[in-house]
Amino acid sequence: MSGKSKVVVIRHIGDEALGIIQANPNIDLVLWKEDTQAPRSWILENIKGASGILVVMGEPVTRELVDAAGPSLKVVSTMSVGYEHVDQPLLAQHKIRLGFTPDVLTEAVADITVMLAFMASRNVGETLAIVQEGKWSTVPWSPFLFTGPQLSISGPSNPSARTRLTAGFLGFGRIAQATLHRLIAFGVTDVLFTARSDSSKVSQEILDKYPTLHSVKQASNDELAAGSDVVFVLTPGGKETYHLVGEEFLKKMKSNAVLVNTARGTCVDSDALAKALKEKWIWAAGLDVVEGEPNISADHPLVKEPRAVILPHIGSATTETRVGMATRAARNIVAGVLGEKMEAEVDLSRFKSTV
Ligand code: NAP
Repeated sequence: MSGKSKVVVIRHIGDEALGIIQANPNIDLVLWKEDTQAPRSWILENIKGASGILVVMGEPVTRELVDAAGPSLKVVSTMSVGYEHVDQPLLAQHKIRLGFTPDVLTEAVADITVMLAFMASRNVGETLAIVQEGKWSTVPWSPFLFTGPQLSISGPSNPSARTRLTAGFLGFGRIAQATLHRLIAFGVTDVLFTARSDSSKVSQEILDKYPTLHSVKQASNDELAAGSDVVFVLTPGGKETYHLVGEEFLKKMKSNAVLVNTARGTCVDSDALAKALKEKWIWAAGLDVVEGEPNISADHPLVKEPRAVILPHIGSATTETRVGMATRAARNIVAGVLGEKMEAEVDLSRFKSTV
């Protein structure tokens, strides 16, 4: 026994982040060195007697893992802002702390969120495929070919253009508000959002911040579905938001509205969305996340829909952001193991300790 605290890192998260852990003389780093997901069996074997484990999105932090670690486990650090893969009541019960990586990824995900809204509304999925398949000559320019709804305000030069544009946010946290910040430049006039608690103060703050907005209103899911020209799903994943957008929601949306999901695949019922697109209940969808990812084959009902633009979960995938997430996760685990304040810690106090 070295007398040092063992920290298990289940993926190579870059030299800069690993250096932060290795620099601490009181920590023994056990690393899965391959650039692949560590096998579960390796994790369960190596976590025995560990003080901390650094995981990435999707690795289940369950009773099996906590039991394998034993009573030494003090901290779990996830390199993600979402933590639905972590059994939070279990960690609370065992007084294990949970670090995560909010903020550093907000801007990168907001960029992709806006990009997907425009890609979907402007038929980029379908039209890009035409170019890539060498079929451009079969679809020469014509006045209304490939037209879609415009997600910006045109100004007085075009009397046919819309004068109001409503953005709806299911969940109005960091990424949602950074998305709105970008949309202000495109002339969004009205905002609807949902939240778990009364957020009238938030509405006023947003109105004060963006004087060009006509209204900012907390709404029910139904009101938001019916009133929005573009709906952004930006809640956490997990049981509470499972199929938040399903048939009922989609049927209430405007027929020329766009749905964007950059949160978690489970928030949107894929079968219902495929049906909505096929039967034209809504205009299009932009998705960075899909239920059951990454096992999404070419014959998946959504992949087959020409008006679904699907990206393989690249919301936070800028080099700067991923380094920022990895280093934050590394600093979190070091602080957690040493019993110090973490840069970003999930508040687990709402789960009553039963120990
Ligand atoms: P955040 O600041 O915590 O925002 C989430 C918001 O959703 C909070 O305001 C929360 O309100 C609200 N909320 C929670 N449950 C809700 C419900 N049932 N109905 C309505 N609103 C609800 O988190 P964030 O940093 O913006 O991230 C949002 C999510 O984006 C993450 O949880 C993650 O799943 C996803 N994400 C995806 C990517 C990607 O690569 N595509 C990258 C990063 C994050 P309360 O204050 O009431 O909790």
